Amino acid sequence: MTDFKTTKKLFALPEGVIYLDGNSLGPLPLAAQDRVASCLRDEWGGMLITGWNKAGWMDQPRALGDRIGRLIGAAPGSTVVGDTLSIKVYQALASALELRPGRSVILSDSGNFPTDLYMAEGLVRSLGQGHRIETPAPEDVAAQIAAIGDDLAVLMLTEVDYRTGRRHDMAALIRAAHEVGALVIWDLAHSAGAFPVDVTGADADFAVGCTYKYLNGGPGAPAFIYVAPRLADQARPALSGWLGHEAPFAFDRDYRPGDGIDRMRVGTPPVVQMAALEAALDVWDRVDMDAVRTQSVALCERFIAGVEATCPDLRLASPRNAAMRGSQVSFHFDNGYAAMQALIARGVIGDFRAPDIMRFGFTPLYIDESDVDQAVAILSDIMVNRLWDRPAYHTRAAVT
Ligand SMILES: *Cc1c(COP(=O)(O)O)cnc(C)c1O
Repeated sequence: MTDFKTTKKLFALPEGVIYLDGNSLGPLPLAAQDRVASCLRDEWGGMLITGWNKAGWMDQPRALGDRIGRLIGAAPGSTVVGDTLSIKVYQALASALELRPGRSVILSDSGNFPTDLYMAEGLVRSLGQGHRIETPAPEDVAAQIAAIGDDLAVLMLTEVDYRTGRRHDMAALIRAAHEVGALVIWDLAHSAGAFPVDVTGADADFAVGCTYKYLNGGPGAPAFIYVAPRLADQARPALSGWLGHEAPFAFDRDYRPGDGIDRMRVGTPPVVQMAALEAALDVWDRVDMDAVRTQSVALCERFIAGVEATCPDLRLASPRNAAMRGSQVSFHFDNGYAAMQALIARGVIGDFRAPDIMRFGFTPLYIDESDVDQAVAILSDIMVNRLWDRPAYHTRAAVT
């Protein structure tokens, strides 16, 4: 069993703040401070370039990948960290398309996070092979798979919709896509660390995700990529960087992809960021994902019930059925931006997603029932008394 009272003490949470935005940027794991300080002082400072071997910097992308792998149901040796999620999306899609020559459709959905679709568009343009990206409504994806049939090259979806928290049925969609011979890429940005994921059991082909949201690796933490072991030696890397080479330090003129997941490495890994991520994963090593899910559902249900009982102007944007939700709850409100600013001014940090979504992440590692109750009380005060309706709260910042 996971003791969430203990895990809460492992994070830096400023006094007077209820942090419901760990789905966007996880808080600082306290141990990351010493881990990063030691990486700077003892490793970089003390070892200089020998740190690559002595401090194991070069092996970190694989070691951290395996620890994330446990959380997403990946076998050891099938996940590696590096780069950003946008880049990992590009890599996965490029390899998947190459494995399905002659097929022209990339199927995603209209709720996917923009960067995933932008990266796909850029790739399609540089390939110049006439691929087409289709983005039906999320609930129409299954029907589209059947309709496109054997012209479907790749199904590329984010499991949990970043706006609404709606969750796709991963296993069923993979089965449907495999039936028409397509490959499937899952973006687990809002899944890894949010609930148990089983890429092996669901038979995913590729999966990617970031480590700065639920995993708490810190702003700029590296992303991860998983390739099913049955494909890992066939998938050809489009971003054929030297650290994905079979023998980087042979400095060969010709590129030869490394074994398995190693070929998804590109260039020099971010050593200091990996030190922070390592400390963040120390927390996850003691956590049972089933317990996280149970508690996350309880917190989300408590929040929905509280808000619906006291804030009639807010309309639930997330699925009511917990089984179809990730670990966030969203509400529609026309003045959602201003209301969120008013909430943040009172110490309740969520975020706003255009056009009218107020979004709240529930992360049992450091959020408990009393946080939820206080957040509901403050939100209802703001709504009932229209405290959001002040000029200062209507001015938009660059990052919402
Ligand atoms: C957060 C998020 C990203 C962010 O990509 P970066 O390259 O890390 O900036 C991409 N896709 C999804 C689905 C996300 O939720």
